[in-house]
Amino acid sequence: MSTPTQHTGRVFLVGAGPGDPDLLTLRAARLLTGARLVVHDGLVEPAILAMAHPQARLISVAKRRAHHTMPQEDICALLVREALAGNDVVRLKGGDPLVFGRGGEEAEACRAAGVPVEIVPGISAANAAGAAAQIALTHRDHASVVSFVAGQCKGLSDQNWSGLVGVGRTLVIYMGVKTAPQIAEKLMADGLAPDMAVAVIENAARPEMRVLRGVLASLPELVEGNKVKSPALIVIGEVTRERDDALCAIAVKAEQ
Ligand code: SAH
Repeated sequence: MSTPTQHTGRVFLVGAGPGDPDLLTLRAARLLTGARLVVHDGLVEPAILAMAHPQARLISVAKRRAHHTMPQEDICALLVREALAGNDVVRLKGGDPLVFGRGGEEAEACRAAGVPVEIVPGISAANAAGAAAQIALTHRDHASVVSFVAGQCKGLSDQNWSGLVGVGRTLVIYMGVKTAPQIAEKLMADGLAPDMAVAVIENAARPEMRVLRGVLASLPELVEGNKVKSPALIVIGEVTRERDDALCAIAVKAEQ
């Protein structure tokens, strides 16, 4: 007599957005409220975790810079093990799962093990910060290219960012708080003007958000002097310069 095939669970790689539960997609909210098992990162806010089904098992695999509570291979193994045991897994990640979220590796691990995986996009920090700080990442008059880079990565000084930033371009740096001085130095050495406009957005789309503006040469002081802490983004480019644009003028006129 053959034994019945064990039902394999599914893994949902779900973007939790920047922290405000209102910025979840409906798909993310529905999956979360129905979930029996949620595996989440440190960046996911308690208010979002509180939306999980009351009987849901919550497993934190929180990472801190240079200190991983759970190595990436173990996270992948955990997702696969639970799914093969028949459990649907909601894998909740800050922002979008595929933007500096290692979601690609987790999806690969699932596919390799024959576990069905669905990816639910989330609002990435760059989009959230742009909206919350009213910085247009692209702008007809100022930028037609936008690039996302990781400020904390192997061989930072060997990377070539020179084509990513400058006139007509916006550079968004994730995980750049600790390396802000090296980033400013590197970009100026690559020929970027020291008076290029920059903004630092800490805790974008959260009640404690701060938006700090300055120029490239003063980026280290902007970050260190204001004791900026992760999570924060550095945005470099003309779009970050505060200006009285046509939209503001129209809004003010309408109020009068
Ligand atoms: N997958 C995430 C990024 C994870 S990497 C996303 O799509 O947003 C972690 C980095 O994202 C942080 O170091 C910080 O640079 C940025 N970040 C995440 N949430 C943020 C927030 N609310 N405000 C500003 N930056 C944020």
